[in-house]
Amino acid sequence: MSGTIDIEALCQAKGLRITEQRRVIARVLSESHDHPDVEELHRRASAIDKGISIATVYRTVRLFEDAGILERHDFRDGRSRYEPTPDEHHDHLIDIESGEVIEFSDARIEALQAEIAERLGFRLVDHRLELYGVRRKGQD
Ligand SMILES: [Zn+2]
Repeated sequence: MSGTIDIEALCQAKGLRITEQRRVIARVLSESHDHPDVEELHRRASAIDKGISIATVYRTVRLFEDAGILERHDFRDGRSRYEPTPDEHHDHLIDIESGEVIEFSDARIEALQAEIAERLGFRLVDHRLELYGVRRKGQD
């Protein structure tokens, strides 16, 4: 579902100045498909460039988020998680035991939400849906 999104190219398209450290952070974000938080992003970015501070990662994700390049999520563990703004909408299922984030989309859910909004007198423009679950035992 999540192909690799070229964040650096998006920055250029949005006219954001790309420094060497931002380039590294953009690359890490482009290659991360697991909705990492800032600490995890910092771990990955500083493995490439030891000079990157956590403050720089914070500032950079904020900048990318403000530019609409990144989406921030709060999956109820008190940490903001980031992913490149996807080309196609998807929702999330969070395994509350492992913290794993699974992406899905379902046309019936999309249609039902639009229907509910319409019934309430609205035209739906956006939504967020998060499911929280535990794996059923004896199944995979
Ligand atoms: Zn996602």
